[in-house]
Amino acid sequence: MLHWRDILTYARYSNPEPPMRVVLTEAEWQARLPPAQYRVLRQQHTEPPYRNAFCRSYEPGVYACAGCGSLLFDSATKYHAISGWPSFTQPLAKNALGYYFDDSHRMQRVEVRCNVCGGHLGHVFPDGPAPSGVRYCLNSASLRWLAPGAGA
Ligand SMILES: [Zn+2]
Repeated sequence: MLHWRDILTYARYSNPEPPMRVVLTEAEWQARLPPAQYRVLRQQHTEPPYRNAFCRSYEPGVYACAGCGSLLFDSATKYHAISGWPSFTQPLAKNALGYYFDDSHRMQRVEVRCNVCGGHLGHVFPDGPAPSGVRYCLNSASLRWLAPGAGA
């Protein structure tokens, strides 16, 4: 299980090695992704709170990266954080995500990206519920929900 100290260590030193890498040019991403997905995944756009697909959705299944299809989160770790964005306490695998310090918007935050394609997903905060104590706060547009059994 990843805790805040693990995430800070990744952001400070080096992220875990992903199972594979998907590398496309920005032109290729733009051609491949619908505009809403492109804005979030490749331009670090944040979608409005409460007006996004998975904010209030608690269907069982897994969530994959909308950019490359890598499996990122299980619905069992999704919880109601009252933030207006889909929130999770833990990724499916330790090497599924990459962590990067983000000082934009006059805030000190840790950005979360898909570790396979580098797509921007959202941010992670140290105010989640026990036992991990972390809250992954993500954009719905960066995720694709897969019903149980429909995954890889
Ligand atoms: Zn990805």
